[in-house]
Amino acid sequence: MSHASSTNETHAPELRSFVESANLPQAEFPIQNLPFGVFRHGEDERVGAAIGDQVVDIHRLKELGLLDGQEAAATAARACAGPSLNPLMGLPAATVSVLRLALSRLLRDDCSRRDEVAKALLPQAEVTMLLPADVGDYTDFYCSIHHATNVGSMFRPDNPLMPNYKHLPVGYHGRSSSLVPSGTEVRRPQGQSKAPDAAAPSFGPSRLLDYELEVGFFVGQGNALGSPIPLDQAEEHIFGYCLVNDWSARDIQAWEYQPLGPFLAKSFATTVSPWVVTTEALAPYRVAAFERASDDPQPLPHLSASDNAQKGGLDLQLEAYLLTPQMRQQGLEPHRLSRGNFRHMYWTAAQMLTHHASAGCNLRPGDLMASGTVSGPEKDARGCLLEITWRGRDAIELPSGESRTFLQDGDEVVFRGYCEAPGAARIGFGECRGVILPAVS
Ligand code: CA
Repeated sequence: MSHASSTNETHAPELRSFVESANLPQAEFPIQNLPFGVFRHGEDERVGAAIGDQVVDIHRLKELGLLDGQEAAATAARACAGPSLNPLMGLPAATVSVLRLALSRLLRDDCSRRDEVAKALLPQAEVTMLLPADVGDYTDFYCSIHHATNVGSMFRPDNPLMPNYKHLPVGYHGRSSSLVPSGTEVRRPQGQSKAPDAAAPSFGPSRLLDYELEVGFFVGQGNALGSPIPLDQAEEHIFGYCLVNDWSARDIQAWEYQPLGPFLAKSFATTVSPWVVTTEALAPYRVAAFERASDDPQPLPHLSASDNAQKGGLDLQLEAYLLTPQMRQQGLEPHRLSRGNFRHMYWTAAQMLTHHASAGCNLRPGDLMASGTVSGPEKDARGCLLEITWRGRDAIELPSGESRTFLQDGDEVVFRGYCEAPGAARIGFGECRGVILPAVS
């Protein structure tokens, strides 16, 4: 499957950086990771790569003449001068790979030009991370069969999955204007809802505010309108991955969703983690796609490929945490709500992308797709409060003595993700966090 699942010298677990914080055992951004993001420093808004607790200003590296050796690296670095990753995402994956290799060599502990490279480093504590891309279109899927089964069984106990579920990755078009970077406060939405026993709907602040723990991926090179993307080429079109919180107002959703799907229950805010871990960086952690039960249908030919079956999955550990105002006041650590893994998704990212383009829809560099809530087979791997509390029936007990069924004002939700594999470094995704503000009065 080309470079997408093959490792190279940049993945070698023994590599170390002269940036010492990158070599710590629990470092999220060791030299094997090198995720891309957009940072603001003073007046500058540019593309950087994370290394330990520093960010490398790629444009500055180029100004310093450190990327002059290879034309492809210089081309990629020129795409890093502006406030979004879109120009870099639009380059061939092989060109971005040359930049990754150049960054890896410049940041190693044996780099002879480390004193010059250090001039392009900024502490992450001194920059503000922005949205990684100017997202033209955002699509949200529904690809965890565990999530779909749990949620479906709350509403249709005898028939939780719709007839299409095992034949195509179900999705809907989300709203790109309300994507926000991690750390942005999220205002509790107001909307219409109708309790089952109420005679009529009413309008007011959502009382069933939830999060959804999801994995996002950004489109790299796009496709022309009318030209589908074959599954065996899909990985080449996926630039990289991030964490996504698809905040969801369950009471608004329950009243509005039929027959056209979620609308205002989800479009008020979607939080995105700022660092994009490239498809190439994730090569060591690829695993087989979901193993379907013997009586499940096989995907139709356009959603089926042996490479995808063997390497289309991703072993990405995902954790959701909650920190309430009272816990913060008491100095308590965020409480872990769940721990799941992206490998349990029924459809792979490549299948989502190929399905999306299969009718001729053109995808563009910087488009964002999210996987849908990542829930696993185990009870502690459920990726939203709707499932964890079973629609509010089973409250969560917190270390502060408080309990929760859904989110209250001031609550902070934090997602973390990381990959580990034998013979590979541990790499992290950084955090995706957001605090709930009271509804407008
Ligand atoms: Ca979702």
